[in-house]
Order: sequence, then C-alpha cells, then structure tokens
Amino acid sequence: MNIESLVRPNIRALAPYRSARQEHHSGILLDANENSFGSTLPSDGVTLNRYPDPNQRALRFALADRIGLTAEHVFVGSGSDEAIDLLLRVFCEPGEDRVLIPVPTYGMYGVAAAIQGAIVEHVLLDDTFQLDRNAVEKALRPDTKLVFLCSPNNPTGNLLSMEDVLWLCSRAPGLVVVDEAYVEFTQNGSVMSHVAAIPNLVVLRTLSKAWGLASIRLGYASANPDVVSHLLRVKAPYNVNGLTSAAALSALCRPEAMERLVTDIKAERERLRKELAACSAVNTIFPSDANFLLVRFKNPDLVRLTLLTAGIVVRDRSNEPKLAGCLRITVGTFMENNALLRELRSLS
Ligand code: PMP
Repeated sequence: MNIESLVRPNIRALAPYRSARQEHHSGILLDANENSFGSTLPSDGVTLNRYPDPNQRALRFALADRIGLTAEHVFVGSGSDEAIDLLLRVFCEPGEDRVLIPVPTYGMYGVAAAIQGAIVEHVLLDDTFQLDRNAVEKALRPDTKLVFLCSPNNPTGNLLSMEDVLWLCSRAPGLVVVDEAYVEFTQNGSVMSHVAAIPNLVVLRTLSKAWGLASIRLGYASANPDVVSHLLRVKAPYNVNGLTSAAALSALCRPEAMERLVTDIKAERERLRKELAACSAVNTIFPSDANFLLVRFKNPDLVRLTLLTAGIVVRDRSNEPKLAGCLRITVGTFMENNALLRELRSLS
C-alpha cells in the first residue's frame, strides 16, 4: 500500500514549520527568545527555561524499545486523543473522505472526524461486540481513509478478534487504527507485533490507564514510518512538554510499578464482578479485558440517580446502539467499590 497516495494533497505539499530547537539544541542558545537567565520555578531535573525536544527522541526511543520497534515507528502526543485528531487531519479531506467506525465504541473518533469534516459512517458490531465482516465489507468504499477500532473496546470491554483485525487490514483501502488504550489489562490481545509488517496498521496506546498517568497527557501511535513522518510534520512543534516527557521516561523505567497496578486492578475487577452478579438490580455483566465493567441494569435511571445521590459517578452508556440499560463502571479501589455495592444492594 502506498501511504503517500492516501495523504491529503495539501499536507503532501506542506513545508512544515522548522522550530528553533529542531535546528539546534546545544551551544549558546540565542535563537528562540527563551529566558536565558533562568526560570521562575526550581528545575527538578528538567530544564524549564528551554523549549523541549520537538522530536521527542528520548521518549520515542524508550517507547520503541518497549514495543519492539524503532523510534521511526513511534509518534508521541498529548494523549492518544492528539494522535486521533492528527490522523484525521493528515488523511481526511473535509467533505470528501470517509471514516468508518464500528459502534458502540469510544465517542472521540466520531467527534474528531466530524470536526475535520470527514464523512462518518457507522456500522454495528455484532451481538458479542465483534466485527460484523459482512457489514464492514459493505461499508468500505475506495475513499474510506480510516477505520477506527478499539480493542479492548470502550465501553464494551472486549478484545476484538485478531483474525478480524488482520482481515480488515487486508481489505481496507486506507488505514486501520486500533486503539489499545486498555491493552495492558489483558493478555495476548495486542496487534502491535504486526505493525512492522502491515503498512496500513496504526496502533494507539496511552499512559492514561494502566500507567496511572492520565494527568500528564501522553499517548502514542505506532505505525509505518511513512505514517509517523506525516504526523510529525503536522503536529505543533512542542506538543509534548518537558515535564510530561520526564515523567513518562521515568515511568517507563519502572514497568513493574505498572504491572503491580494492573494485577491489583484485575483482582478487584473480578471481586467487583462477583459481587455485582449477586445484586438483584443487575441484569448482565459483560466480560471485560479492561479496567471497567459494562453492566446492564433492570432500571438504569434509578441506579444512576441513586449512585449520584451517594456521590458515586458512573458513565451512562444506555443511549449507545445495542447498550440499552447499560452503565460503564470503572473499577475503583476496594473502598470505592464497597460504597458502590452498598448502594446497589439498597435497591433490592
Ligand atoms: N482511547 C480510548 C479507547 C479511551 O477510552 C480514552 C480515554 N477515555 C482515550 C483513547 C484517550 O486517551 P488519552 O488520555 O491518551 O487521550
């Protein structure tokens, strides 16, 4: 597949902005109108008065090392939401190009596509929230530039079949974006190992979930270097700030801390599932490979209001296709889950 031919003509023709720190990052730096005298904050190891590396070399190397690819395969952004936005901006001509989104799924794909002015097509996932190959095949058009998949899927919690994802990569005329925001909560579910061989596969990851770093805003896209180079050309010069880079680099040096959190969350997820199954207000608990449970309630409005009155907030997904009656509940701490369960038991 020729990635270049998928790129919007104006982006192909773009002469990207060359930021000062792209040209030089050492010496007597009088080129960027930074504050040469220092900073108003103590540095704590980060040079706060200088712009950060616009190419984010250290971070991209560290992430590449973790996923078994090269830095040329990695784009880092302010959350994976930035990668979603930039993919649309690079590949989708407003009013012309199409984006296919199997639903129910994470709402940001559709919103970001609408902001870009792409034509958004939805197809339904099947009753087990897997791809419906017939529906997908019928919906694909020559100008379908992006298909957004989420695995494990938010809000349904399930992994998509890897065979289906690979099948789609072979059929799609454009890129297949697989959002693996929750992949650390599962095993053997990632398609990352296929990125090197499949030119139209893009995998999104984030430090917001398993790594417990939602506040620093760090997400990344792994893809063919031709895709990554275009994302780099359109991004804001210093899209990942120095504090975020430093925090991410130090977290990546300690993957065991992430693994411990994941183990604890998965154990608590199982306890929560068992306890919920014993609540009479609960209709169905969907299997989850993520850090949340999708639960169908007999009376979701009453449940949501009862929880809200007790100061417990869950996500109402009952208006999404195929999700009537469903609330999405993030796995909380032992105490938080007990508070949730206490309220649910009070309903029976
Ligand atoms: N993808 C999915 C599937 C998500 O659920 C979320 C957050 N809710 C994101 C991406 C956004 O992640 P980030 O914090 O990296 O922007």
